[in-house]
Amino acid sequence: MAKITLDNLAHAYYPNPKSEDDFALKELNHDWADGEAYALLGSSGCGKSTLLNIISGLLHPSQGRILFDDHDVTHATTADRNIAQVFQFPVVYDTMTVRDNLAFPLKNRGADPSYIKQRVQQIGQMIGMEAMLDKRARGLTADAKQKISLGRGMVREDVNALLFDEPLTVIDPHMKWELRTQLKSLHHEFGHTMIYVTHDQTEALTFADKVVVMYDGRVVQIGTPQELFERPEHTFVGYFIGSPGMNVIPAEVSGNLANVHGASLTLPRGYASLTGKVEIGVRPEFVMLTAGEGLPVTVRRVEDVGRHKIVRAALFGNDINVVAGEGQEISPDMTRISFDPAHVNVYVDDWLTQGEAA
Ligand code: ADP
Ligand code: MG
Repeated sequence: MAKITLDNLAHAYYPNPKSEDDFALKELNHDWADGEAYALLGSSGCGKSTLLNIISGLLHPSQGRILFDDHDVTHATTADRNIAQVFQFPVVYDTMTVRDNLAFPLKNRGADPSYIKQRVQQIGQMIGMEAMLDKRARGLTADAKQKISLGRGMVREDVNALLFDEPLTVIDPHMKWELRTQLKSLHHEFGHTMIYVTHDQTEALTFADKVVVMYDGRVVQIGTPQELFERPEHTFVGYFIGSPGMNVIPAEVSGNLANVHGASLTLPRGYASLTGKVEIGVRPEFVMLTAGEGLPVTVRRVEDVGRHKIVRAALFGNDINVVAGEGQEISPDMTRISFDPAHVNVYVDDWLTQGEAA
C-alpha cells in the first residue's frame, strides 16, 4: 500500500496544448493518503478515466510527476507500480476456468499453491461465484464475467493500490449493492488505498471516506460526504450532489446583505465588494416554505417521496426546490420562502467565497 502523490500533473491528448481548454486533465496537485478509500465522481467526459489511467501507468501524462511513497514512478510500467485495476467492461481469459482466471495474478507473482487455492476460494465466495469456479469463462454472462474481473482485481493482498473504473456498470442493480458492500469490507480488512471511479453520487457517497469531485477536467473539491453537502466549494458540487441539488440564485452581495430581485436577506458573514458572477447557494433542506415573511414564490408541484416532500417552485422565474418534512402540510397560502442563514453560501464565478464572520 502506498501514498500516491500527483505533482503538477496535467494531461492533453494532443501535442502542443495552448490554452487550458486543450487539457483533458487540468493541472493538479494532490496526495492520496495511504489506505484511504476514495471515490472519483463526475459526469461522463470530465476526465476521471484519464486521471485513473495516469495513476496506473496506462497513460503517460504530458506534464508533471506521480510518486508512490515519495518515490518517482512517472516512467514505471503498470506492473512495476504494483497496481490492480478493474475496468468498466470485463477482461477475462475465455478459455480458462473461473478459478484459473482468479488465480492468474497470484500465479504470475509466484504465490504458494496452497495459498492460491485458499485465496481463490475466498474471492469466489466474495463475488458469489463459488459454485462456478470450475466452469470456463466462455459462455458466462457479461455480468458473471465482470464479477470475475472484479475478483481478479481483488485477489492480491500486496498491491500498492486498487483502482476501479466504473466497475459495476454491467452488473444488475441488486448485485451492485452486494458487490459494493464486499469492496467496502475488503477495504476494512486489508486497508488498501482504493480509488473508485463513478458518475453515480450514491455509489460514491456510500463507498468512500473521501469523494473527489471532478468537473470539466478539474478536481473541484475533495471532501467527506458531509463536507460536500454542507460547504460545496463549487456550484457544480452543489447541484451534482444532493437530491435535488443545491439551489443557485443570482444575487447582489454587499457586506452582510444579499439582494435577490430587490428583496434583501441577511447573511451570517460579511463580504467585501464582490465582482463577477455572484450567486448564493442554498440546499433545498435549508429552504423553508412559509405563509409568513420571505421571498415570493409560485409553487408548481409537490412530490411526496416518502421520507420527505419536495416542493418545486419558481422564484422570480427561476426554479427553486424546497425539502419539507414528511408531516408538513403544504397549504395554498404558503407563497414565501426563507433560508436558514447559517447555510447560505456565496459564490463568485462558481467558486465559494469565504467572507468574514459578522
Ligand atoms: P470520463 O472517464 O470522466 O468519462 P475521460 O477521462 O475518458 O472522461 O475523458 C476526458 C476527456 O478526454 C473527454 O473529453 C474525452 O473525449 C477525451 N479523451 C479521452 N480519451 C481520449 C483519447 N484517447 N484521445 C483523445 N481524447 C480523449
Ligand atoms: Mg471513464
